[in-house]
Amino acid sequence: MKICRFNDDRIGVVEGDSVIDVTSVLDNEPAIRPWPLPMSDWLIENLDRLRPAFESAAATGPRLQLADVKLLSPVANPSKIIGAPVNYDSHHAEANADKALNFGTAVKTVADYGLFLKANSSLVGPSEGIELAMPERRHDHEGELVVVIGKPCRAVSEADALDYVAGYCIGLDMTARGPEERSLRKSMDTYSVLGPWLVTADEIADPDNLDLKTMVGNELRQNSNTKMLIFSVRRLISYASDFYTLLPGDVIMTGTPSGVGPVLPGNVVKVDIEGLGTLESTAYAFAGASAPQAS
Ligand code: MN
Repeated sequence: MKICRFNDDRIGVVEGDSVIDVTSVLDNEPAIRPWPLPMSDWLIENLDRLRPAFESAAATGPRLQLADVKLLSPVANPSKIIGAPVNYDSHHAEANADKALNFGTAVKTVADYGLFLKANSSLVGPSEGIELAMPERRHDHEGELVVVIGKPCRAVSEADALDYVAGYCIGLDMTARGPEERSLRKSMDTYSVLGPWLVTADEIADPDNLDLKTMVGNELRQNSNTKMLIFSVRRLISYASDFYTLLPGDVIMTGTPSGVGPVLPGNVVKVDIEGLGTLESTAYAFAGASAPQAS
């Protein structure tokens, strides 16, 4: 099943070029008190239980054109957004060859760096766009396969890792270039774009063998396959779970292949991953500081 969050937090089942609004399924769910919220995503945590109701609602629900809806991040409330630094050999090579990427340092790989975390406030859906602040910086696209965790897990083996996956989607791990820590440069508002929808794990036979392409405008920038990952999807989940309890809705951005490059205001960035669809998002310039509140 392909499930999206759209417009004003509606839930949709995606079929071809259509979105079927199945939000009515949630009418029977108890209201969640506003505070304190559990540290996981409620919808992803309950997806297995709600899925039959979503499927039957999709048979009769109101049908909209995909092109007419505003796609939000399919995960609303992850407890963490985990990144995999330098997880393709091809990106490792290009990073070491280009001072604009390495800032004079010898770039290592995920095997040395481990993982990093992105601020949850950087999360947006494709229709919200990418806000480019600090115009003196270079801002790069990183098209990535994204894993969404479905069940809590800690210290799981690689062999069991995929049992804890709710599904997959596409991610843009946007990155401001500079010498600072990744967690700072990759956590700017809108720098974690997730979408276009969640594809449940049963539809993806092997996440470690999916073609991935990134286009900026009409230019093909990135063209690879997740079989080239240094740490496979299974290994990333197992490795992350050695350090963190993974919770429903947690997001693992698996890393980007070679071909990263600058994104400018007005650019349309598209990331296509086999079986997951195409994420499309438009970059725009930061409008500046917010106007002071009238007193
Ligand atoms: Mn990345």
